[in-house]
Amino acid sequence: MTAKKAIFVHACCASCSSYVLAHLAEIYETIAYYYNPNIHPESEYRLRLDEMRRVCRRLDIELVEGSYRNLRWWKEIAPFKDLSEKSERCWACYRFRLDATAKKAAQFGIPLFTTTLSVSPHKVFERIDAIGREAAVRYGIEFLAEDFKKKNGFKISVERSREMGLSRQDYCGCLMSLEEARKRRDQDRD
Ligand code: SF4
Repeated sequence: MTAKKAIFVHACCASCSSYVLAHLAEIYETIAYYYNPNIHPESEYRLRLDEMRRVCRRLDIELVEGSYRNLRWWKEIAPFKDLSEKSERCWACYRFRLDATAKKAAQFGIPLFTTTLSVSPHKVFERIDAIGREAAVRYGIEFLAEDFKKKNGFKISVERSREMGLSRQDYCGCLMSLEEARKRRDQDRD
């Protein structure tokens, strides 16, 4: 029997990972990397990390835990903080996390990486694809460009996260997205 090829997967949160990691593990020796210094506040970061550990235990997938270097992330994103979601603010955020993932994969000697980000309908696949490929070139590895929301991927991730009792927050992760979600809630109440 041939050994499965390894893949290093940037995992943004447990609910997106519940489908994507299980799907990838059918094909690859899958290692998850929780690296999300974008998440605010830190209590939310810890909550999402705890859920990530639970999903990885359940799927029997190794989890590598990145550090919460929020200030470095903030420095990169600050010039774009007044822009809305799906703008240069998010491209910089994808870039920050995917660059770190590609770098870590290369350090581990894993020649292939990807991210769970594309399972979300709020994320722009074409940007993830371009940014992932650029990071792959920088570290001499390959990027698996798969739009995981396709083939019902998003729907399955919602069902799985419900089955597993995972929280589904109404904001992406950063302070700006938290404020945007608050505004949406206020408008809905008016
Ligand atoms: S909305 Fe999400 S992807 Fe965009 S900057 Fe905030 S955390 Fe990053």
